[in-house]
Amino acid sequence: MTSILDLAKKKTVIFDGAMGTMLMAAGLKAGETPELWNIEKPSLVTEIHRKYYEAGSDVVHTNTFGGNAIKLADRGLSDRMEAINVEAAKLAREACPAGKFVAGDVGPTGKLLKPLGDLVIEEAEEAFFRQAQALLKGGVDLISIETMFSLEEALAGLRAAKRLGEAPVIAALTFNRTKKGFFTMMGEGVNQAVSAFEGAGADVIATNCSLGSRDMIDLTKELRAATRKPILVQPNAGKPLTQKGVTSYLQTPVEFAQDGKEIRNSGADMIGGCCGTSPEFIRALVQTLGNSP
Ligand SMILES: [Zn+2]
Repeated sequence: MTSILDLAKKKTVIFDGAMGTMLMAAGLKAGETPELWNIEKPSLVTEIHRKYYEAGSDVVHTNTFGGNAIKLADRGLSDRMEAINVEAAKLAREACPAGKFVAGDVGPTGKLLKPLGDLVIEEAEEAFFRQAQALLKGGVDLISIETMFSLEEALAGLRAAKRLGEAPVIAALTFNRTKKGFFTMMGEGVNQAVSAFEGAGADVIATNCSLGSRDMIDLTKELRAATRKPILVQPNAGKPLTQKGVTSYLQTPVEFAQDGKEIRNSGADMIGGCCGTSPEFIRALVQTLGNSP
């Protein structure tokens, strides 16, 4: 069977855009648990996945960003971890056309690791292991560790997913841009992150969120210089604008797609969108890159 790694040798692999933005457009209220919709409003989740595939995504992420047991415990839902993840995988699988892919989404715990916080690294790894196991049980093709603000936490997710076997694993960190370069919230730089990810067996080196597509062009160049592995880049739709507690993104799909082309030309093998992007952004990206949907 072909994997996304084979596909990446033939074309730029197109991922999906934001899930949260689409759920809010479908009626998700602030404070609601997005992952619960996999069980309570499955048809709405499947519809979002379908729209991304129709727009030209080769890969969509399951609606499980906050689906690890540590994060779900904040909502008193840790006992539903397995059901939420298995169902989420099935929903994406249902929408997935033949020859396309489903990525099991693994996001951060939302807790700080010791010594800054209370989280023990072994507990984080165990939570990621059990989440990835449930996602694979539900039928995902690969695991995507994403929006990690801490290299150490990302590595816990990566180790956990690799322990489960053969499915390719994407490891994505969120970087901020400073005068001295790109760094995670914990102060880890690009070269440090890439060599740690390679050492732990990441199949794809990735970055997503925080930065818009303009900044991600330069970040892609740094990642490309640091690794020969496939690279996935998922920018936000420009910079966020928060007014009266509501965050919006001002970039148009065409602007995003033009930057996407530069990101591709700077060395990315796989491109998708993060916060503020929608199927329109993915459609524009596909058209601009010249890939047929
Ligand atoms: Zn994001």
